[in-house]
Amino acid sequence: MIVNVPTADALDDVALRLYFTAWSNLIKIIDEFEQVYDVKFDLDRDDSWEEERLGYLKACQPELQSTCAIIQQSNEIALKAMICRVSPFLLLLKSDPKFSIQNGDVDFSEFRTLDAVDLPLAVNSLCEEPLSDRFIQTYNLVRSLRNTIAHLGASTKKFRPEELIKILLFQYPQIWRSRLWLKDRVEFASQTRTSYFHDFKYTSPHMDVMHELPTTISMIGKADFKKLFGEAKSKRRYLCHQCVDAANTRYADLDLDVCRTAHLIEDGKNIHCLMCGGTFPVVRRKCEVDGCKGDVISQDDSEYPECCHTCGKYRDDAPAGEWVTSSV
Ligand SMILES: [Zn+2]
Ligand SMILES: [Zn+2]
Repeated sequence: MIVNVPTADALDDVALRLYFTAWSNLIKIIDEFEQVYDVKFDLDRDDSWEEERLGYLKACQPELQSTCAIIQQSNEIALKAMICRVSPFLLLLKSDPKFSIQNGDVDFSEFRTLDAVDLPLAVNSLCEEPLSDRFIQTYNLVRSLRNTIAHLGASTKKFRPEELIKILLFQYPQIWRSRLWLKDRVEFASQTRTSYFHDFKYTSPHMDVMHELPTTISMIGKADFKKLFGEAKSKRRYLCHQCVDAANTRYADLDLDVCRTAHLIEDGKNIHCLMCGGTFPVVRRKCEVDGCKGDVISQDDSEYPECCHTCGKYRDDAPAGEWVTSSV
């Protein structure tokens, strides 16, 4: 019999892990330049840092090429997951298995699976929801670049991190239609090498993701933001106490202004967090903290009683009328 038959969920997990590995590489490439020079990494800007930006981009090429190969691998496995969801044995179409007179188990991995070049048409022929033409274009572009890198060790193309980021942002809602991007970002930050250190006391996946959030938000344009999160990028965002609490470890040094991951939903009585996917009831009254204009406060019987979703401060068992800085 055939053993170790893959499941669609296991393949999707690998595809997402590779997707967010690529994402994390690209954000680090941009972040590190910005931290050293204290300027935006924007190649289209004509300013006194132009030479440094170009020099840095040149030095980034090997890493950008490796990242392109990771995106291709993620794409290929994601499409295999779609086919596998119909039946894993469809992945063996076009294979020519060698049968043996001897009876015994055969590992699925010993069979040749569909070639990368055939996957988009296989998905469109076998799966309920077809891939868009634009997705297939990006898939083929990444695949051909990766082939050049794999076969010649390098590509003459000059990669730019923001163009690979744009491909990733476009592809996610095309592949994983019912998943939450920022929730997955945290989930897959907890499957990395550094996750070994995630004890939620000194570090956590939420902390890592909050640290990259300013670059993440700045790289996601208005249209991609709406597609990924279902809300306008310009819509006011609030603190999610659960996520800030999980991120606020000893090494976090969080800037709460950039940790806003929740939106007020239409009824005005709940907030929904893009990071944990949670929906939390709120009361609408003015925050009494000096200088805070917030009017979205968590309920007094919640896990974070009467904590302001704008400034992150709350009134717990302190004397009436006195607000104290919360642990978040
Ligand atoms: Zn949250
Ligand atoms: Zn407040």
